[in-house]
Amino acid sequence: MMVPGRGGNKAKVKKMNKIKKNDTVYVLSGRDRGKTGRVFRVFPSKGKALVEGVNYVKKHMRKSQANPQGGIVQKESAIALSNIALYCKSCNKPARVGMNILTDGTKTRFCKRCEEVL
Ligand SMILES: [Zn+2]
Repeated sequence: MMVPGRGGNKAKVKKMNKIKKNDTVYVLSGRDRGKTGRVFRVFPSKGKALVEGVNYVKKHMRKSQANPQGGIVQKESAIALSNIALYCKSCNKPARVGMNILTDGTKTRFCKRCEEVL
């Protein structure tokens, strides 16, 4: 369906996604609060990420051809990006991330607290 008159000055500013695959992140809220883990998948469109060892859910599997026994399988479930933060190993806490853009356009992230490159 077409929406007439869309646009205007209310453009949403998308929060820059600082978290990438293989980052170590700190869980800010939820059941696994305080845990750290490695990101192994990011879903930018959903604003979620899969983090190793974080947000485990038990799935009850029905008996199937692939899984003739059925039973319970533990699996990571995606966690909202707003609930995780990049972790700074030298500060031992979630980093306050700053961004540097190098002359060649490469972006680097650093911890504002200790200036460690993340
Ligand atoms: Zn730091």
